[in-house]
Amino acid sequence: MTFGKTNCPNCGIQFEKIRKNQKFCSKKCYSEIHRPMSPRQRNRCPECSRDFQGTKKDKYCSDECRKKVKNRKNDAYRKKTSVRMKCRVCGRMFYGRNMSPVCSSHCRSLFNKGVDHG
Ligand SMILES: [Zn+2]
Ligand SMILES: [Zn+2]
Ligand SMILES: [Zn+2]
Repeated sequence: MTFGKTNCPNCGIQFEKIRKNQKFCSKKCYSEIHRPMSPRQRNRCPECSRDFQGTKKDKYCSDECRKKVKNRKNDAYRKKTSVRMKCRVCGRMFYGRNMSPVCSSHCRSLFNKGVDHG
């Protein structure tokens, strides 16, 4: 028995439904509508090591994991570009750039005035 005729929304062919909720003439048309872009595959998130369905390009399972990795990279970058040094004005240890050997804007103004505590 069939459930009447309908038109496939993907290819437009008229076909007889063999299931009540059938919308497409074939599995091929169904998958073409539901997966118009890259095919999905099983990926493993390198951040939380959770399995998830995604395209080849989807590296992380969620925005949350993507952000975590991004923040960590930013931190690493900041640490790499700054060095631990001693403030030329107050003598405090701090992370900064070689170009400005002072820990704060307050010390910077003193430093620029030529005050040097050694
Ligand atoms: Zn079709
Ligand atoms: Zn994840
Ligand atoms: Zn200082």
